[in-house]
Amino acid sequence: MKRIYWSILFTALFFTMCGQGNQKKSAINNFTTMEFNRLTPEEESVIIHKGTERPHTGELLNNKTEGVYLCKRCDAELYRSSDKFDAHCGWPSFDDEIEGAVKRVPDADGRRTEIICNNCGAHLGHVFLGEGFTSKQTRHCVNSISLKFLPVWQEGMTKVYFASGCFWGTEYFFMKAPGVKQTSVGFMGGHVENPTYEQVCQKNTGHLETTEVVFDPAVTSYEEMVKLFFETHDFTQTNGQGPDIGPQYLSSVFYSSESEKEIAEKYINILTGKGYSVATMLKPVSVFWKAENYHQQYYEYKGTKPYCHKYTKIF
Ligand SMILES: [Zn+2]
Repeated sequence: MKRIYWSILFTALFFTMCGQGNQKKSAINNFTTMEFNRLTPEEESVIIHKGTERPHTGELLNNKTEGVYLCKRCDAELYRSSDKFDAHCGWPSFDDEIEGAVKRVPDADGRRTEIICNNCGAHLGHVFLGEGFTSKQTRHCVNSISLKFLPVWQEGMTKVYFASGCFWGTEYFFMKAPGVKQTSVGFMGGHVENPTYEQVCQKNTGHLETTEVVFDPAVTSYEEMVKLFFETHDFTQTNGQGPDIGPQYLSSVFYSSESEKEIAEKYINILTGKGYSVATMLKPVSVFWKAENYHQQYYEYKGTKPYCHKYTKIF
């Protein structure tokens, strides 16, 4: 009996979910002056063209980590993990939104209520009321691909900084390393506040293209990070990295403690002992200015590989 109930429920949910709506772009067009994150064609088909991802395929469907769900397009905070529940429908479900973050609009199909990001108009999914799942009687049925998940900063994580030429390539290797929880690219070491990429390209702000790496010390170590740093770029180059020439592409470890500095020095000594002439600088950490969104996880979005970094085993 229970089984029959679920199969009826599944069918009902399937038909009441976000089915491919008519393309309705008016909401999106109202927000075109903002700067948004780069979207893949797959993300665009849902977020801009109001498509629906296949059920049970979304990356965040079964995510139970504590944190906040952001809009994939504009990074606005939309949902809390505490409001997520399992509706067995194949899409992430929430019974509440962060106040004012989600806008309800009549769907083009004339039946359902569409939900969009109140900040940028991104299509999220649909909202259904009175189904009895939770006491709030509300189910935000959201495409996983419309969301980005930001875990709560976990106690004990370590944040470190490396510069090794074009930050797209540096981040590419760090984000794939075991134990790395999060990476971002930006600028460090200069004298201009909140620099833009264009400003740094002028080569006179003093910044280096830098990658911020957050890792779990229970899984990996600063030594492993330093080894990966040296094994993924040419640390002997003195005028930039690969074809990228300029002070912003120089090699540097930005250390946050004496012990980090000592570990970096240890590996420079090992390399020197192997006959390398190491050009890497050791600088104390300073303000990290995050770069524009389109630089973040660049190769991941582009689906290509770095032109200026490659892994070579040394240690
Ligand atoms: Zn948004």
